Amino acid sequence: MITLDPAILSRVAKPGRYTGNEWNSIIKDPSQVGITVALALPDVYEVGMSNLGLKILYQIINNRPDAAAERVYAPWVDMEAEMRRYHIPLFTLESKRPVQHCDIIGFSLQYELSYSNVLNMLDLSGIPLLAADREDKFPLVIGGGPCAFNPEPVAAFFDCFVIGEGEEVMEEVIETAADWKKAGKAGGRTALLKQLAGLKGIYVPSLYSVSYAADGTAAKAAVNCPEAKPVIAKRVIRDLNQVEFATRPVVPYLDIVHDRIMLELFRGCTRGCRFCQAGVIYRPVRERRPEILLQLAQELVDSTGYNEMSLTSLSSADYSCLHQLVQALIERFKEQGVSVSLPSLRIDSFSVQLAQEVQQVRKSGLTFAPEAGTQRLRDVINKGVTEENLMTAVGAAFGAGWSAVKLYFMIGLPTETDEDIEGIAALAYRVLDLYKTVKGRRGAKVTVSVSSFVPKPHTPFQWFGQNSPAELERKQQLLKSRLRDRNISFNWHDTRTSLLEGVFARGDRSLSQVILAAWQHGAKFDGWSEHFKSDVWLEAFRSAGLDPYFYAGRERKPDEIFPWEHITCGVDKTYLQEEYQRALAGAATGDCRRDDCRGCGVCPGLGVEVLDWGEQANG
Ligand code: SF4
Repeated sequence: MITLDPAILSRVAKPGRYTGNEWNSIIKDPSQVGITVALALPDVYEVGMSNLGLKILYQIINNRPDAAAERVYAPWVDMEAEMRRYHIPLFTLESKRPVQHCDIIGFSLQYELSYSNVLNMLDLSGIPLLAADREDKFPLVIGGGPCAFNPEPVAAFFDCFVIGEGEEVMEEVIETAADWKKAGKAGGRTALLKQLAGLKGIYVPSLYSVSYAADGTAAKAAVNCPEAKPVIAKRVIRDLNQVEFATRPVVPYLDIVHDRIMLELFRGCTRGCRFCQAGVIYRPVRERRPEILLQLAQELVDSTGYNEMSLTSLSSADYSCLHQLVQALIERFKEQGVSVSLPSLRIDSFSVQLAQEVQQVRKSGLTFAPEAGTQRLRDVINKGVTEENLMTAVGAAFGAGWSAVKLYFMIGLPTETDEDIEGIAALAYRVLDLYKTVKGRRGAKVTVSVSSFVPKPHTPFQWFGQNSPAELERKQQLLKSRLRDRNISFNWHDTRTSLLEGVFARGDRSLSQVILAAWQHGAKFDGWSEHFKSDVWLEAFRSAGLDPYFYAGRERKPDEIFPWEHITCGVDKTYLQEEYQRALAGAATGDCRRDDCRGCGVCPGLGVEVLDWGEQANG
């Protein structure tokens, strides 16, 4: 057990990040359990503590008498310097033991720019960075989360990946590892990895040999042992009502990103926005029953003491029993002063009415996401909203007393022209004017927030060549020049980090050497602008002889084999290809749970189905 010197804690910002002992944390004696798991998120405590997936796994694993789950996050740079100076290895927050002594370390990979932090955390733990260099005594290093749907750029650093939802498969991994340990680690690490490869949804990269075509594109990922499957299909929970939820989450002592109850209404989204990876990889929609949600909400209020509850999902306003649920939650918890919030609003007046109900006192700003500035481009991305929808919703919000509106857009989308960029500015001005029409005076504040589009694997836009940083900057400048009203503020993203995200999103195994070289030259916390070192990354590409444009900027040929082809989320490639063609033609595709099934392949392929309780109640 590591004892932290108070002198060290006094020298770092937010020492509460490292002390543990928070409300609801579970401290087990590691010697009394068969398997210890360090659940890791390669970012700072405040981000890591806000991850719902890890909260769920923490509870599921700790429910087992034979296992202990502990937490570990990336130490901030001040703490890392102290740890390196005093040779303190990376430790878990619960038992304060070195991560190296755990049996498993599971990283949740939410974002490509956290890859350098994975290496930093392994290094701080004293665990060899390359999976090939790890002996039996080292923990099994597992990756999961959305980035695991193309794990190839980080394949060299991980022993295996969990593809898809982790509730069931993590239990199977623990049982397999526990049996192997009990058997005296028979057959060594290779035997364990082969057994894991036999589990559904587990990908062991070392059991595949990747070859490349003469032009540098991926040619084949061939299995090199009988245990490995040619294609790894994601794990999916058929009915969320049947699995454990995080009803006793750890309550932190310091502010974290989502410092409130998170009540997950459903998984998946069938709206079919063509840029959205989550919308594809978490298909189909599976709702929790409203009565189960009420019960979970009660448990969460009782176990945490929070007075704010956020109804989370990819598109919470689409929950089929939302109105009844919100009413019931407000009614049940009004005495205790628990407020309910909806993080994502659909662009319609029904949403505004709901927002009004849930935010009866505080009229903070409302956020809408038209994503593109013109109807033509909104049709290309299949956003499914019109300018009229937006104006009706914003008008209702102004009428109900809101005056601040945030509008989210992307630039660099397929087929985009300068007219689409100018359309963003025009829309912002029309929103300002609308306030005057509704209220008879000026006074609205509009924030235009613009991110750069990054094509992601498993989406209809996975063939698209990403805009270069120079082109994105030109578009940002064009938009800036059109937004000249002091009531409009403009936020944009660093185009160089978008490039890196694009490279790793659709990259292959060759990129491991780039990530390693960049980390060796100081790359870490790349998602934090104050730490991002573009020159270090560009030099790492140069020294590896690799061109970032090849991965990010190149339009892929229709028949190109992708580096992630042996990993499937269940959606057919031909369906995605058709969707790309429909996008280029500006053709809309409807919501498959409210309209007809579009034949994406998920439901029959994975033996799951859309669960929509509102629809079932209405027959
Ligand atoms: S198979 Fe049909 S119903 Fe199921 S997610 Fe795909 S399009 Fe929707």
